[in-house]
Amino acid sequence: MTEKPRGSLSEFGLIRQIQQQAGGADHLLKGIGDDCAIQRQDGSKELLVSTDLLIEGVHFTRSWTSMEQLGRKAVAVNVSDIAAMGGTPKSLFLGLACSKAVSDQELQEFTAGFLAEAQRYQAVLAGGDTCRSPGPLMLSVTVLGEVEKGRAICRRGAAPGEAIYVSGTLGGSALALQLLQQGKRPPAELERQHHTPTAQVELGQKLAEACLATAMLDISDGLLADLGHIIAASGVGAELQLSALPLSSEFRLAVEQNPQLIDLALSGGEDYQLLFTSQEQQLDQLPEFAGLISRIGTVSEGTEMIVWGPDRKPYECSRSGFDHFA
Ligand code: ADP
Ligand code: MG
Repeated sequence: MTEKPRGSLSEFGLIRQIQQQAGGADHLLKGIGDDCAIQRQDGSKELLVSTDLLIEGVHFTRSWTSMEQLGRKAVAVNVSDIAAMGGTPKSLFLGLACSKAVSDQELQEFTAGFLAEAQRYQAVLAGGDTCRSPGPLMLSVTVLGEVEKGRAICRRGAAPGEAIYVSGTLGGSALALQLLQQGKRPPAELERQHHTPTAQVELGQKLAEACLATAMLDISDGLLADLGHIIAASGVGAELQLSALPLSSEFRLAVEQNPQLIDLALSGGEDYQLLFTSQEQQLDQLPEFAGLISRIGTVSEGTEMIVWGPDRKPYECSRSGFDHFA
């Protein structure tokens, strides 16, 4: 058998291939193959919709990530926005613009990663659009999700005195990226956090169902920048304890060697952990949340955000969060 040349599939050949791999779901009356997908709607639920762009050279570099990992990440970062509202992802839409430099094999690996990650969250690929790109690989992913009426957790809603919690660990993805940019190989766990983050869907759902969070979002631009969104939307301030930030053992080791790296936990992007406020002061002590979340601070009056250092002085972070237009 001879190897096909790179990128030899036609648009419809590629769509057919994606369609064959995609499969269906009960909530999809119609998936790939018509002008629109048709999704069943439950009257007791509200629809959640979110879109994310991933551009080669901006969000990812193909030499650092496999196509399978890229497919996974495209889904996870998108589903993370549904998790951030406490919802359940249902249908995904994939806008794909790729040049001939992407081989058929690579596209298949991308699709396999995309679909495998979607399956983790019981979401299905329900449609999309496909075209040639004159240069970079560009992905636009849209997700439809649902949440019980009135239960979506928004950025607005935090009140003074409430506790501030974060899931998982912080800074690992940003540290992995920094090491890759320096031509170094990150520790495996940090590399995993960067290339294949996990959307915290179950945690978000649990918080929404039990009405335990007053405000929530997922951390994509860095803890301080994203907490800034919650306090701006809620009209409150916040105080954080630097020593309370949850760090992986790999990250902690790096900080021991270079203390400045702690700033990546405060302002490095792409953690995709949930950041939320709650009236419950010790949620992290409950068995069902222990080990999953950490209390990092308290919502305050005013509009200031203060990070208290170990010396009980305000800590100044040397970096600000990620801004594409900065
Ligand atoms: P239209 O001309 O109506 O845009 P297309 O030929 O672009 O239709 O798409 C045909 C079907 O294939 C549609 O159901 C569309 O949602 C789906 N589709 C196209 N590209 C993709 C893709 N990259 N991923 C998933 N579904 C896709
Ligand atoms: Mg189309």
